[in-house]
Amino acid sequence: MSSIKNIGVLTSGGDSPGMNAAIRAVVRASIYHNLKVTGILRGYEGLIQADFIPMDGQSVANIIQRGGTILKTARCDAFRTKEGRELAHKNLVESDIDALVVIGGDGTFTGADLFSSEFDFPIIGLPGTIDNDLAGTDFTIGYDTAINTVVNAVDKIRDTAESHDRLFIVEVMGRDSGLIALRSGIGVGAEAIMIPEAKMGVDDLICRLETGRKDKASKIIIVAEGDEAGGAYVVGEALKEKFPKSDIRISVLGHIQRGGKPSCMDRVLASRFGVAAVEGLLAGKTDVMVGQINREIVFTPFSQSIKHIDAKAISPTWLRLVEILSL
Ligand code: ATP
Repeated sequence: MSSIKNIGVLTSGGDSPGMNAAIRAVVRASIYHNLKVTGILRGYEGLIQADFIPMDGQSVANIIQRGGTILKTARCDAFRTKEGRELAHKNLVESDIDALVVIGGDGTFTGADLFSSEFDFPIIGLPGTIDNDLAGTDFTIGYDTAINTVVNAVDKIRDTAESHDRLFIVEVMGRDSGLIALRSGIGVGAEAIMIPEAKMGVDDLICRLETGRKDKASKIIIVAEGDEAGGAYVVGEALKEKFPKSDIRISVLGHIQRGGKPSCMDRVLASRFGVAAVEGLLAGKTDVMVGQINREIVFTPFSQSIKHIDAKAISPTWLRLVEILSL
């Protein structure tokens, strides 16, 4: 029998579509198990400011379809300090909150890992980030929506590229990870995809364009913002210099990739994760992230989930796929 009576829930780091569906699931699962549930505003900042609101079934009505997060999110430097975390702990104890569900990315889990070990406080994390760069889950909440946003935008760009015989360089989000670029690039039939993991330089790209088919009316190059080549503008300048007669345009998709209605896949994933988090806490789990691998719910220690660079390395088979399909 668990001693947990009141679960706090917060969203932290960058927002991602589906966070609201996750909050809703945490609240409804808590109510189902006769627990109190408290919303914490603006992530770890709200923990430190004791910005808490009681939540009930109605407070999460009509939010499953909304992007962003009703609890707001923030980046909080004070939580990186021991004093900040001590204040956060004091506030939780004073408000009788005895467990936390944190929804965010690797920074959020790094903070949660520290907090849970310093104060022996039960915490479970839900992977809420469009980047899909956490180990311990096939997909993070928001990734599916983000890649569909990219695909919809690039399909429109393709129409104009095709009509004007243009080459478009499209920059998508992903500072450290090329997963958004890779999957959406395959989805839009990109002629080339430049991601930090593949280390394709501008020279390689030029070589590919020179040796590629000449009868293509349009070309789309997808570049992850963190690619070593330096992003869409740098790649664009190099291509304009090399191919001065070509009509080359640049499009940086930016923040539209974070917003919007979550896809059904993200809503279902978030709903499943939210219920699993509450039931995981009641079963005594802590210091872990909920994920889904091969359709099964799994719990991965925070320390493992944030080692994304090795764990989510892009298999060469994906890069081969891009090469075959772009012929
Ligand atoms: P996203 O992937 O969308 O960027 P994230 O969770 O990685 O999300 P961050 O801004 O990196 O976003 O982290 C969120 C918050 O987690 C930080 O503002 C900070 O309060 C806390 N945090 C991050 N790293 C640490 C750390 N080393 N120690 C304590 N707290 C941390």
